[in-house]
Amino acid sequence: MDTIKYVLSEEKLPRTWYNLVADLPTPPPPPLHPGTLQPLGPDALAPLFPQAIIAQEVSAEREIEIPEPVRQVYRQWRPSPLFRARRLERVLDTPARIYYKYEGVSPSGSHKPNTAVAQAFYNQQEGVRRISTETGAGQWGSSLAFAGSLFGIEVQVFMVKVSYEQKPYRRALMQTYGATCIASPSNTTETGRRILAEHPDSPGSLGIAISEAVEVAAKDPHTKYALGSVLNHVLLHQTVIGNEALLQLELADDYPDVLVGCTGGGSNFAGLIFPFLGVQLRGGRKVRILAVEPAACPSLTRGRYAYDFGDTGRLTPLVKMHTLGADFIPPGFHAGGLRYHGMAPLVSHIKELGLMDAVAYHQTECFEAGITFARAEGILPAPEANHAVKGAIDEALRCKQEGVSRTILFNLCGHGHFDMQAYMDYFAGKLRDQPYAESALAQSLAGLPHLAR
Ligand SMILES: *Cc1c(COP(=O)(O)O)cnc(C)c1O
Repeated sequence: MDTIKYVLSEEKLPRTWYNLVADLPTPPPPPLHPGTLQPLGPDALAPLFPQAIIAQEVSAEREIEIPEPVRQVYRQWRPSPLFRARRLERVLDTPARIYYKYEGVSPSGSHKPNTAVAQAFYNQQEGVRRISTETGAGQWGSSLAFAGSLFGIEVQVFMVKVSYEQKPYRRALMQTYGATCIASPSNTTETGRRILAEHPDSPGSLGIAISEAVEVAAKDPHTKYALGSVLNHVLLHQTVIGNEALLQLELADDYPDVLVGCTGGGSNFAGLIFPFLGVQLRGGRKVRILAVEPAACPSLTRGRYAYDFGDTGRLTPLVKMHTLGADFIPPGFHAGGLRYHGMAPLVSHIKELGLMDAVAYHQTECFEAGITFARAEGILPAPEANHAVKGAIDEALRCKQEGVSRTILFNLCGHGHFDMQAYMDYFAGKLRDQPYAESALAQSLAGLPHLAR
């Protein structure tokens, strides 16, 4: 009755990413130009992204080939293992079968290199010298720094100031890979200077850091911008996770009834669930799909489905998504990767179509779940991943209550080895579940752009 590992040989590494748009009953609403409020033409994105990425962003093709150089890099840690958590099942005394896909085996310890490597490759193909980006806790920044080092591209990372100060190890990891890391808001951009003039002590936010990174790319013809979540092409690259899981579950002769993932911007969640949702939409087996988000940043469960900016500086196109408002600065909590104000438009769209559910949990109950998991399975989850663990454990306990066996698969999107301060705070009883500020949300939502449409 031990934990079982399902491996695929390298030759079984999927050759394509899966594009959910091909199978949707209705397409997601288009991004809008913030000035004209007209649907955004692909040309408008050209200063920011390479052509190949823009083509993927607007593609409706079902299968998109993973370029051979990207697959070569993937092979270092992919296919990532799928485990059946039999020790956890025993601890929970549940009739459920619990599986998890473990993305912590990548060099930077999370799912993020799946898209970082692809994005660095396409930028290199188009002669880009430098990529600017933002990072919260540092997982995305370190993943892009790793990918940039492989393809000979300079990487400049705007890191949310509070994390820059609190998480020096990920900063050092970015430096190790050769990237430059700047605390945001910074005085190197107009947006940063404007915010510092108003709020000299601003702790920063992902929305602000995005504005700074976008500004740098917009002003320099040799620099492009990269985003680590939210956009269609990022979700596309992450579907290698679900494509592998489909094959691995065949080996296990099983199929999920329930899929669980944590959601910040939605990319690791989408990466796992989209290939399964595609099977369902093409007439195959139905799955219950559950997103787990932090109660302190609850875009799917309490945000509004509306057109909003992706950043605080209001430089990005308007996208329709579940949003807490671009001015929303979430209270401090340890899952830094889940602090974004919005949700991927594609994830928001399937939520509106009734194809998935979402729940929100407070951080202490998520740490409790993560510790139960670590004691059973040995792997210490990232604070973000603890949300998925909590969701999966609650589903398994529900099976026990109802006396039914279901197959549950969740995405263990990263390890927490760089987040030990969060665990130390938990053990010291210092973690607080911030009461959710309804008034702050109302204020931020009042700032949503008014569209006469
Ligand atoms: C970045 C990150 C997240 C949140 O981003 P998504 O796009 O929602 O996946 C979650 N977990 C880990 C480990 C991360 O690094």
